[in-house]
Amino acid sequence: MMRRVGSSRLKRLAAVLAAAQVLLLQVATASAQQKVESKIELWDGQRAMARIGELLRFTPRSPDTPGHQEAIDYIKAEMAKTSADAVTTQRWAYKDDQGKSHAMTNIIARFQPANPRRVIVATHYDNIVRAYRDAANPNAPMPGANNSASGVAVLLETARVLSLLPKPAVGIDMIFFDGEEGPKSLGAGDPDWMALGSPYFAEHLGDYYPANKPEKAVVFDMVCDKDLELKPEPSSLVSAMAEVKKFWNAGIAIAPKAFSSKITPYPISDDHTALAAAGIPSFLVIDFEYEPFFNTTQDTIDKCSAESLEAVGRTLLQYLYLP
Ligand SMILES: [Zn+2]
Repeated sequence: MMRRVGSSRLKRLAAVLAAAQVLLLQVATASAQQKVESKIELWDGQRAMARIGELLRFTPRSPDTPGHQEAIDYIKAEMAKTSADAVTTQRWAYKDDQGKSHAMTNIIARFQPANPRRVIVATHYDNIVRAYRDAANPNAPMPGANNSASGVAVLLETARVLSLLPKPAVGIDMIFFDGEEGPKSLGAGDPDWMALGSPYFAEHLGDYYPANKPEKAVVFDMVCDKDLELKPEPSSLVSAMAEVKKFWNAGIAIAPKAFSSKITPYPISDDHTALAAAGIPSFLVIDFEYEPFFNTTQDTIDKCSAESLEAVGRTLLQYLYLP
């Protein structure tokens, strides 16, 4: 459960936001005329929808379930078909406050590992443990088509298309984080929510980046909604304003319906939070307005569209080739 951050922090961000709003609007106008390369059309929303369908077969995909391991195996197998040079796992045991141990796995796929310039493209693949916001069935499994299969689908389809295109100037690390839905109740409305996988990765950054930190990180979550409206997220602007502008400019040119330059009125914590805290300019791409389906049994594939996924995926592809 990515969470809205408290109001005191919001106040401190107010000045930054006011400045960012002006900047975004200025560049958005100019970017509308930008030409989009035809190759980004290789990114196929129908294929991404099929990925979501595959992942839903493993529901529930929360830690300690068979579906969790099936999702890991599926992601590794799909990434092995791409031009990723190495598909590795970062494994550890998380001990909860009852002393129970949970096997956790981040999946890291590296393109051009010898390239010293690194960019992280990330999402989480773990699923919330039960549909706690469902009025009728709060203990039922949560399918999680949008939260979190949509992000996984975007990365997998992007990896497929990257394998067909010339190498970008940067080396890409695709990271599928575990445990974004938190420790205590593994997402079921835990008031002390915090992500597990991205902070663990951030604490062990030197294992993957012995010399220099990655230049930037982009994180996807909840990006398949039929009514997709992506707005810049405030904590992302604090961490990586230039990158947010670059991404939204590309998005507004490619899919103006899906990208808004109106800033989300509250900061959201997600896997970008730990990466930003580790000193990597990091931003989140999310449509957090997903009522009444958010974390209910109704988070199903019929709420998603190929068009929305294409808006996000083609923008990401374009972004990865921008200077
Ligand atoms: Zn999520």
